[in-house]
Amino acid sequence: MTDVVVIGAGAAGLAAAHKLSQAGARVEILEARTRLGGRIHTVPSTDRFVPFELGAEFVHGTNHITWDFVRKGGFGVRKVLDEHWVYPPMCKQSEFWSSLETCIAGVNFNTPDKSFDQFLRERPSPCADEGLVRLFVEGFDAADTRKISSHSLKKASEDEGQDSKARLERGEGALIVWLETCSRNQGVGIQLNTRVRAIRWHAHDVEVVADINGSEATWRAPQVVITLPLGVLKANAVAFEPALPTETQSAIDGMEMGNVVKLVFEFDEAFWKHRLGAKNFGFIHSQFGPLRTWWSRPLAPILVGWVGGPQATEITDHIGVAERALKQLSDFAEVPLATVKTAMRQWRSHNWTADPLSEGAYSYVGVGNMDAPEKFRQPIDDTLFFAGEHTSDIANLGTVHGALQSGVRVAESVREMAF
Ligand SMILES: Cc1cc2nc3c(=O)[nH]c(=O)nc-3n(C[C@H](O)[C@H](O)[C@H](O)COP(=O)(O)OP(=O)(O)OC[C@H]3O[C@@H](n4cnc5c(N)ncnc54)[C@H](O)[C@@H]3O)c2cc1C
Repeated sequence: MTDVVVIGAGAAGLAAAHKLSQAGARVEILEARTRLGGRIHTVPSTDRFVPFELGAEFVHGTNHITWDFVRKGGFGVRKVLDEHWVYPPMCKQSEFWSSLETCIAGVNFNTPDKSFDQFLRERPSPCADEGLVRLFVEGFDAADTRKISSHSLKKASEDEGQDSKARLERGEGALIVWLETCSRNQGVGIQLNTRVRAIRWHAHDVEVVADINGSEATWRAPQVVITLPLGVLKANAVAFEPALPTETQSAIDGMEMGNVVKLVFEFDEAFWKHRLGAKNFGFIHSQFGPLRTWWSRPLAPILVGWVGGPQATEITDHIGVAERALKQLSDFAEVPLATVKTAMRQWRSHNWTADPLSEGAYSYVGVGNMDAPEKFRQPIDDTLFFAGEHTSDIANLGTVHGALQSGVRVAESVREMAF
């Protein structure tokens, strides 16, 4: 028996536990993995100086909750070079953000919502760089343009300040370690390797049933914070008894889980330097190849390749993609493939699509479902509280700050009900 059980120890769960325990609640976190952080997954590179980010990497925008944590944690921060190249031919695109914004600004809130694909097809005057715009929505939003709500894209572009990006010097994992330390110091219990199977609930009385190495264990609390990823909710991997109310179920059905494939390569030397003018070139947006967006890390010869949306969903074999990606790099840099292969020290990735504890990368809004995140934010009988990136403001969906924001929001909401 405890005051609040939090399910999931990603950014949302840890932020909620931190804030709740600060307010004096006894909190227990149940996490299925053997590590904390969820879709934040920072691992060391060979020289251990620049970490590999297999999940979240960038701090987007100016969201005050994230920056408040960053300040309190004393993290070093580096701004990301906002330069964009388009291939082929390899040329710099200075109008990258403005051509995107102009296209998305054409979405009309006064007409019924439609998919972004339909919006592009029915637009009277075609968007300049339509290919680039589609690539961006598939890549950045991890979305299928045939499913994503065009209204949600416009709303996000109005609120977001997408072009502002930074990195934590010690990686996003440092934020998780800091939240963990604060939470533990405030008495939060964290159970790893504890996979929740069922949530049996009545008003102010919840039994959470979990699997620990094949044995069943039960926690009881008057309130539960559920930060299970949208993909896990969609897969019905956790049973709700009784079933969730129709409103919450319609939020689960109305949102989509997007996919991305992200491969991180570490090299002995920056063989691309001569072609792109610098070791750190910003971003390359490629019309061809298995990975459509590439970026560099400023302090080490590390390149990250990324593809999102339907193309990512189709990829099951990361090893095959890594091999083809090296050919892509030799084309970009105009150096022999052998040079790229010789320079490569190692590459890493995590298959988020095949991961049963995420079932995809991050969420987006389906057509006609702009109110879905808001529906998630409604407490159920003052007893079940949903948090996680998929419950944040539309502009913050699919981000770490959306997850942190949702954790802080849910903690306030539980406190209002309970203390
Ligand atoms: C490849 C990739 C790159 C990304 N890049 C960025 C980026 O650059 N910037 C950015 O802001 N965001 C990025 N994101 C998105 C960001 O990582 C997520 O939005 C955020 O981390 C989600 O946090 P969360 O707490 O909502 O969910 P999660 O981190 O997924 O936490 C949920 C937790 O629940 C656990 N869980 C699942 N099932 C169970 C169960 N049955 N029982 C108990 N526990 C369970 C999971 O293991 C997980 O730890 C990226 C995501 C991916 C996949």
